[in-house]
Amino acid sequence: MKKALCILLSIVLTAACVLPAAAADGACDCGKAPIIHVYGIGNTVYDGEKSVFPPQGGTIAATVFTALPLLPAFLRGSLNIRQQERALRAAARIFSPIAFDKNGDPATPAAARFTYPESVAHEDGEPIYFDYDWRLDPFVVAAQLHDFIRFVEAQTGHDGVYIVAESMGAMILTTYLSVYGTADIKGAVWMNGAYKGVASCSESFSNQNSFQADSLYTYLIQQTGIFGSSPLLCDLFTGLYASGLLESVLRPVEKAARQLADNGALTRFMQQYLGRIPGFWGLVSAEDYPAARNFVFPTAESQQEYAVLLTRLDRFYNEVSSRVDEIMTDAKEATGKIGVICGYGEVITPVTKDNARQSDSIILTEDESNGATCAPLGSTLGNDYVQAVDDGHSHISADRVIDASTALFPDHTWFVKYAHHQVLYGSYALELVHNIFYSDGFDVFSDPAFPQFMVRDVRTDTVSPLTSDNGGQKTVEPGFAARLFTPVFKAVRVILDLNAKLFAAG
Ligand SMILES: [Zn+2]
Ligand SMILES: [Zn+2]
Repeated sequence: MKKALCILLSIVLTAACVLPAAAADGACDCGKAPIIHVYGIGNTVYDGEKSVFPPQGGTIAATVFTALPLLPAFLRGSLNIRQQERALRAAARIFSPIAFDKNGDPATPAAARFTYPESVAHEDGEPIYFDYDWRLDPFVVAAQLHDFIRFVEAQTGHDGVYIVAESMGAMILTTYLSVYGTADIKGAVWMNGAYKGVASCSESFSNQNSFQADSLYTYLIQQTGIFGSSPLLCDLFTGLYASGLLESVLRPVEKAARQLADNGALTRFMQQYLGRIPGFWGLVSAEDYPAARNFVFPTAESQQEYAVLLTRLDRFYNEVSSRVDEIMTDAKEATGKIGVICGYGEVITPVTKDNARQSDSIILTEDESNGATCAPLGSTLGNDYVQAVDDGHSHISADRVIDASTALFPDHTWFVKYAHHQVLYGSYALELVHNIFYSDGFDVFSDPAFPQFMVRDVRTDTVSPLTSDNGGQKTVEPGFAARLFTPVFKAVRVILDLNAKLFAAG
């Protein structure tokens, strides 16, 4: 009896010592390889305990305080040299705490934090999150992702993982695949993906920005909903727009901004701050890269000075951004489990020339879907439109806005109308991702609940299949007060325009 107890005790003790190790090292036979979710840009950068980016109240106040005296000059559309320097000093307050060196590495101790989870459960298909310092060279982050994948494999006892990559994470995933291939990857989903550039970044770096009153108005009213809680502010802004005053104010502001670019001040600023951050360069499209490289590093001297950084940026261009289609096609052929999820029906950030194009509010639908044909915002492809590529399926949306047949993967690309970039579709996306990964050959025809085109109801934040009836315009109706504000602003505009003419004459 005593001996039996001894044996029992030793078995229990041995099991207690051995089992956790076995769980970590042994293979898991649950049949559901873990899903890693690669986050988008946006985690906070800390210097010690202090968060330095995104900028906090004090920094924003100091920036505004420095820049405020420049407002009249901006509204006149002309800054003198001293004012240009002041404008860039104001902007530097925001970016100097996260400054990088000339080689494209951090120049301050500030960093975005990410720690590994203590343990990872995966059987329920809940994603395991991977975060990173979005400023770093995408190849550095890709190596970190590779380590993380190995960690998750060891922890879960699976050989290979699935990846869902969101926004900037889609660029990281593409970089990862270019270096490490698909040896550890069983399937991949690009969701709201920034893998073909982000127009606001791409156009800023290549000096193609544009400020349009139409898109600024639509963006602020429809997208951000910042006036949602205040109908009076909404009406005030509508009056500002409808009277033409907003346009009158934007034209000289754009002229002043252009002045900063034309005389090299913006290039100097880019060289010192934004242009040193490889993460931002990862959001510049292959199409815009040569122009951006030329705008930020225009002279032989500057190219010499930033030679190490340029080698890194050129590598990204040569091995990743100019090869995206090839990288994705290879991943599709190797894994057979691929998905692209994107949004449309939203106006893009109002600093680009793309204000008439379909987007998810941050990324153009054409880029996010990798090549779908999109009607301009607010219109359709027309009743006579014929699908561009006949692959034996219909790939035109019920609202006749999207033709998915020209996308890289017409049968594996899902569209959600009115899905704002940050919304990420709630439970819809996770269910779709589970279908793509945990069943074989799942495509846009596999399940009537997950057709190619969906629409998001912005009031209930739910997603349902798009029909010709439910995709109507998502609009905020201005109130009565807007009609009162409009003539007042019209009068202001007349005075301003007169003043501008007098100023120009004088
Ligand atoms: Zn398992
Ligand atoms: Zn098809």
